Amino acid sequence: MNISESKRLFAHAQNFIPGGVNSPVRAFRAVGGEPIFIKRADGAYIFDEDDNRYIELINSWGPMIIGHNHTLIREAVIQAMENGTSFGAPTAREIEIAELIISMVPSVEKVRMVNSGTEATMSAIRVARGYTGRDKFIKMEGHYHGHGDSFLIAAGSGAITMGNPDSPGVTKGTAKDTLLAPYNSLEAIEELVEANKGEIAALILEPVPGNMGLALPKPGYLEGLREICTREGIVLIFDEVMTGFRLSPGGAQELFGVTPDMTTLGKIIGGGMPVGAYGGKKEIMEHVSPAGPVYQAGTLSGNPIAMAAGLAMLRHLNAQKSVYTKLNEISRKVSEGIQNINQVLGYNYSVNHLGSMYCLFFTDQPVYDFESAKKSDTALFGKYFQAMLKRGIYLAPSQFESLFLSTALKDELIDKILEAHRESMIEIH
Ligand code: PLP
Repeated sequence: MNISESKRLFAHAQNFIPGGVNSPVRAFRAVGGEPIFIKRADGAYIFDEDDNRYIELINSWGPMIIGHNHTLIREAVIQAMENGTSFGAPTAREIEIAELIISMVPSVEKVRMVNSGTEATMSAIRVARGYTGRDKFIKMEGHYHGHGDSFLIAAGSGAITMGNPDSPGVTKGTAKDTLLAPYNSLEAIEELVEANKGEIAALILEPVPGNMGLALPKPGYLEGLREICTREGIVLIFDEVMTGFRLSPGGAQELFGVTPDMTTLGKIIGGGMPVGAYGGKKEIMEHVSPAGPVYQAGTLSGNPIAMAAGLAMLRHLNAQKSVYTKLNEISRKVSEGIQNINQVLGYNYSVNHLGSMYCLFFTDQPVYDFESAKKSDTALFGKYFQAMLKRGIYLAPSQFESLFLSTALKDELIDKILEAHRESMIEIH
């Protein structure tokens, strides 16, 4: 495969951009080799600057749930552009998207739009602190909530991929208010709550974490968290930046029937544009400025083009519930196909799978928290990634990420993915 133009661009980019990329995992450091530079994308495919074509299994890290460059989104954006790109003033579309989000996501009674998942989580924690008058919050090891200072402690995703789960630059003063717990252990939460009685403002987690690879909640775990938080007056925040509008129209909270107090959203909500949101109980959200005293703002928040893309996406997902049946069917075929091939070849690797998210770990032990995820052979994952890329399959360039499937994945493409998987497994062992 000729990737000479990508190589040239990467070398050039490093003169001007730290590490040559605008988000660390894109540099392919964890998987060896050099990143491919993307020129365009369409449906199930992305195309690089050398005109190589790849079948997409990340989909821009989640947003492109109905495939790339979908007519619905493209037309909504083009139409919105006719009227100008930014006003910095309220628009009717912002009310429409707020109403739609509230109708889809069970916990959200009021919502504020922001520009990224990072902004959503940072703001949600501030609001929870303002609401409770408490400083500390609980975060799960290996969960990723964006790059806000107080979350870069035992962080998953790119932070662990780059070897910096605790980033330099985060002060001890900030870090001391972030309490860490292993995912899937209610005992650990009870201990933290006991040791910090009346001091914990919030408990934030990815209900189905996709930033340490994919792990699933044990039966009763989310319900248990709900009970503890209600009992202790702790604001339960589901970070559904990945799972929102993906695991079901109402996200993981709808799928598992557990309603948090607040929810953070991103990715799909913008249809591929930079959008995030945080919302929750009216009583809590009424603390946000200018309704209340907790300050949060944004020059480009509620941007008209971004709202148009997001609205088109959410309307489609809300109206076409069959999207989820289709997605789950596609995902089942991919995930079961991979497990069958592994079995035939004699590899007993763990595969976690839910809805249209899945992750193959290079360990034969079950993965249910950060420690078990870290048992995966990441060097072998790197070889697998390169073997798949060579065969035209684009995976997340890190073991500590979930894959996100789209409805654009037709049966013949699934066959190609499975054949590439079979060949790659043979090649790397
Ligand atoms: N929360 C979760 C669960 C995420 O997966 C991410 C990003 O991957 C974020 C927050 C941060 O979102 P953003 O990258 O839009 O700032």
